Amino acid sequence: MIKAAMFDSKQYDIDSFEESEHEGISIKYYDTKLTADTAGLASGFDCVIAFVNDTVDAEVIDLLERGGVKLVALRCAGFNNVDLKYADGKITVVRVPAYSPHAVAEHAIGMLLASVRRIHKAYIRSKDFNFSLNGLTGFNLYGKTVGIIGTGKIGRVFADICNGFGMKVLAYDLYPDSSVKAEYVSLETVFKDSDIISLHCPLTEENRYIVNSDTISLMKSNAIIINTSRGQLIDAEALLKAIKEKRIGGACLDVYEEESELFFEDNSGRIVRDDILARLISMPNVLITSHQAFLTCEALENIADTTIDNIRGFFDNSSCGNEVSYKTASVR
Ligand code: NAD
Repeated sequence: MIKAAMFDSKQYDIDSFEESEHEGISIKYYDTKLTADTAGLASGFDCVIAFVNDTVDAEVIDLLERGGVKLVALRCAGFNNVDLKYADGKITVVRVPAYSPHAVAEHAIGMLLASVRRIHKAYIRSKDFNFSLNGLTGFNLYGKTVGIIGTGKIGRVFADICNGFGMKVLAYDLYPDSSVKAEYVSLETVFKDSDIISLHCPLTEENRYIVNSDTISLMKSNAIIINTSRGQLIDAEALLKAIKEKRIGGACLDVYEEESELFFEDNSGRIVRDDILARLISMPNVLITSHQAFLTCEALENIADTTIDNIRGFFDNSSCGNEVSYKTASVR
């Protein structure tokens, strides 16, 4: 029996893993996140199943290795929370490279529509029988220019949806792909010419804060920025300043650079000390969801099935093809 310890387990994770076919793998579910303080809980397990806000840094890797863990199976696509260089030769890291690009692209479009048509505000008003339309004026997406940064699995689906809306689709990627239905332009042109900018690239050392005060100053003053990728792609302080100074039209954020302490949890009874987040949330043109873009039945099922396959592949020595190592991980 392969023993796996799963961290940051929510009920929807437990349900999807319990429903998956995982004969030969026993899973212990911990609701706590993986940190240096909790890594000891994995002692005696063969494998750890981790998520986006679990910490897999050098200290945690040492603790896991000492406890006998041989594999970190990420149940997500991104791996920016793992020190891959340090893990090399100590612990193998696998991930779920694609579980539902449509889930994320559709959430990005959902946020955009909600934001530009004020649907989130109309919902609250009508709950209170307030049927006034004042302040709910939006704009058409048809004919607008959207700029997509990162045209991999998610970005290309997002491009298809935008084409369906009759938008002009610009794109920037380190590796342009002629099969993506978009016009590739420079990063600067994406920032300058787009009415809507959507981030679909992974977080790397090179693109941390790709949206910063300088790039925001290139953007149209009514541009909307969408981030369903990773929080640190945007300098949140610079974004807040631009929102306050009305130098940007709005933001749809499913991720936030300091999300790890707050997102996925009910903080409604707590005093939230993050003033930048609190101020962003207070803005009428900022819509925030809690790293929710992946959360569909289809994606959860794929995540569970692929993670189980990855674990089996590693322990029965048949390669699963989903290993990530620092030698290959820079962008793709
Ligand atoms: P992917 O690897 O298929 O595509 C990423 C694309 O970004 C690639 O084409 C790559 O060349 C490009 N890229 C890399 N660095 C770049 C840069 N500096 N500038 C421009 N392009 C760059 O990845 P994907 O499956 O499309 O996922 C994209 C990201 O979405 C993931 O890395 C992850 O961070 C995020 N994500 C978020 C959620 C969520 O729930 N919010 C869920 C899944 C994935």
